[in-house]
Amino acid sequence: MPGFEIFGDEERKEVLDVLDTGVLFRYGFDPARKGHWKAKSFESELAKRVASRYAHLCSSGTAALQIALNACGIGAGDEVIVPPFTFIATLEAVLNAGAVPVFAEIDDTLCLSPAGIEAAVSSATKAVLPVHMCGAAAAIDEIRDLCDQKGLVLIEDACQALGATLNGKAAGTFGQMGCYSFDPVKTVTCGEGGAVVTDSRDLYTAACEYADHGHDHGGNDRGLEGHRLLGANFRISELNAAVGVAQLKKLDHMLTKQREHKGALKEAMRRCKDIGFRRLPDEKGDSATFLSFFLRDESTARQVAKDLGRAGVDSCFYWYDNNWHYLRRWDHFRALNSGAALFIHRLDQRPDYEAVNLPASDSIMGRTISMLIKLNWSAEELDKRIAGIIGVLQRN
Ligand SMILES: *Cc1c(COP(=O)(O)O)cnc(C)c1O
Repeated sequence: MPGFEIFGDEERKEVLDVLDTGVLFRYGFDPARKGHWKAKSFESELAKRVASRYAHLCSSGTAALQIALNACGIGAGDEVIVPPFTFIATLEAVLNAGAVPVFAEIDDTLCLSPAGIEAAVSSATKAVLPVHMCGAAAAIDEIRDLCDQKGLVLIEDACQALGATLNGKAAGTFGQMGCYSFDPVKTVTCGEGGAVVTDSRDLYTAACEYADHGHDHGGNDRGLEGHRLLGANFRISELNAAVGVAQLKKLDHMLTKQREHKGALKEAMRRCKDIGFRRLPDEKGDSATFLSFFLRDESTARQVAKDLGRAGVDSCFYWYDNNWHYLRRWDHFRALNSGAALFIHRLDQRPDYEAVNLPASDSIMGRTISMLIKLNWSAEELDKRIAGIIGVLQRN
């Protein structure tokens, strides 16, 4: 997820355009802007890039998820099916919408499995929120078919998956709405920012309104705008959007580099026995931000993770012990320590997240290590890395 690795004159130029005008706001001030509409142009380029009819930028990926849930009418008491392996933001957004997260099993795609979703559906289920983890698509065509069959809203958390596709279609464009993040560690970064995409005019309109206090952006004068609904302030600033305009143009370069580096690592690791790789429903569509592999058991995975660190192979993640990305270590979530969870606390039957049992997910995550793929590795660094990894794997 390396947008920050290739900052340069392109980003500076876009930001200076905005500073020259003094208009940091994405709406209005037409005469003063000297023709610069950074948020709008980022939106139209993003929509084109993922082949979605509409895109709306907002202040973060977490905001995008909350906007999507609101636009789709998901709220108090509605159950939303989520994976236990994601960044905690997915859960925060569901709770902030007043909805109830329900966990389903992931499989060797490291994303929600269709069978897991099916087992988690109840009469209160309103939506499924799969996460395209670590830069590659879930089995999202199967998940979409299942949602269609059951009449469930599909919202995709594609915050880590800009650039990933399944059979040529962008991750984030299979359901009613898709969400992206451009935070400082994502593939394309704009400092802080996010976006929702959709093919539905109505959902797009609801998203724009919700993200800006319900303003309908109808009149020329902000004071004269209409309001159908209450919203929030999840606007992006023109300065952040400007960075995104330059970064998005670099996406193809990033994908090429990442795929090259990941390909070399994977090729070398294939020769080690007892190693499995994350199943990719479409290997060609992988954005290749991470290489995830499975060891034969949990204790080997722990040992390998430790040894990789000692061997100087950096940026490796053993998520099972990590308290950002896997349910097992989200003590604050399981205790629902959040004002956002007030609604859940008042349910007649509050879900008991301490008791959630996901043996299939535990068994997979206990054996998984993911390695971040960087853009700026030299051929020498890559060779050294490969030698380090092979050495560790052969000793275990
Ligand atoms: C980064 C991320 C988010 C949240 O994005 P922010 O822009 O940091 O708010 C949500 N979901 C996943 C899976 C992420 O990786």
